Amino acid sequence: MFQAVPAEGPLDLFIQEHQMDYRRMTKEELKDEKKRLEKQYRDYQALGLKLDISRGKPCREQLDLSMGMLDVLDSDMEYLSENGLDTRNYGALTGLPETKRLMAHVMETQPENVIIFCDSSLNIMFDLVSKSWSHGVMGHTPWYRLPEVKFLCPVPGYDRHFAITEYFGIQMVNIPMKEDGPDMDLVRQYVENDESVKGIWCVPKYSNPTGTVYSDETVERFARLKPAAPDFRIYWDNAYNVHHLDFEHIRVIPELLELCRENGHPDMVYKFGSFSKISFSGSSIAALATSEENIADVVKTMGIQTIGHNKINQLLHTRFFKNAEGVMEHMKKHAAILKPKFDLVQKSLEEGLGGQSLATWSKPEGGYFVSFNTMPGCAKRVVALVKGAGVVMTGAGATYPYGKDEEDSNIRIAPTFASLSELEKALEIFCVCVKLASVEKFLNEG
Ligand code: PMP
Repeated sequence: MFQAVPAEGPLDLFIQEHQMDYRRMTKEELKDEKKRLEKQYRDYQALGLKLDISRGKPCREQLDLSMGMLDVLDSDMEYLSENGLDTRNYGALTGLPETKRLMAHVMETQPENVIIFCDSSLNIMFDLVSKSWSHGVMGHTPWYRLPEVKFLCPVPGYDRHFAITEYFGIQMVNIPMKEDGPDMDLVRQYVENDESVKGIWCVPKYSNPTGTVYSDETVERFARLKPAAPDFRIYWDNAYNVHHLDFEHIRVIPELLELCRENGHPDMVYKFGSFSKISFSGSSIAALATSEENIADVVKTMGIQTIGHNKINQLLHTRFFKNAEGVMEHMKKHAAILKPKFDLVQKSLEEGLGGQSLATWSKPEGGYFVSFNTMPGCAKRVVALVKGAGVVMTGAGATYPYGKDEEDSNIRIAPTFASLSELEKALEIFCVCVKLASVEKFLNEG
């Protein structure tokens, strides 16, 4: 049973001891609590802070890990790839053989299934959707000529995926994300019965933002899909495949390209990989891994777009990382920087909000985000409140297509960029704002 709050005194201690339950408070008690939280909030505002936990950017220490890459080449060296190609010149449209081998390891596939692009996997995704829209997939009707084109969007998901499909006017259909991946009954129902469904956005490991790792069964069910549309493709964005937080317990999922082949649909998946969060974000290498037929289809367009991608950067990456083991050793160093930040998020949320049934949040084992759910109707208010106290977070609703979270509940926390002390402060403020928004909700609902 809730006990009366002392008018003055060590309230934080009181709360810790008595775990306030807003649901059982009287209106007067809630009003007192609101006053107390507002006072705390004003104190934070007075600090004039400027903190940012909005985007999944690596921090400086993480970027420093790759500085050695800039020393693997100098002007006295030969810039030849292993097949003797002068990387300073045109050629090797689909990438250097050694870079394809390195990327194939990271993407758990074969070098012949890989095309190396420039520095952004998102760019590859955009180009694929754009080409499908204007010219069609493998000789099928260009999407712009169809009365309706749909993409399935597991939610909450990655805002920049949704931005691409929204840009082309593709209708986005929400698919609830479960513990083991998207709701596959619903995915199957849409994909197998609706010819206008041309794609699905997936981040299969350490998903953005939920941290979900698709179960073996989920991946196998993807491979067994029998799409109504022959040009349906799974956009398998495995951006966080090697981004484990705990290398003692790394997660492995089945490899979808091979599974699709075994199930008689070799062309059903486009896999994406990127070194953006391995080396330098936005200045690394990215890749597509897919079937031979899809590669031939993509190369036709690519050969018109470019004479070749940046091979000097491919050489830098290959000489620096060398092989799969090199990447893994490097990722352990990332984890050493990131794990304390993710642990701090859990500790801060648990201390600030634990046991109060005001929110739930994910406990990811890798990737870049923590997904946080307020009580329905509070997310926008929380993000506005934290902003008012100098903390920038991803806009509420951003994790849903069209920015519309019907529940107004999901908030993405991106803990990587801030320092530990900044993060601690930001989360302290965040917890107070969640409580304040919750108290307001209880009071408004009478
Ligand atoms: N996919 C996902 C799921 C991401 O979270 C991000 C970066 N936040 C990207 C792609 C972007 O990758 P790139 O820099 O290779 O475009």
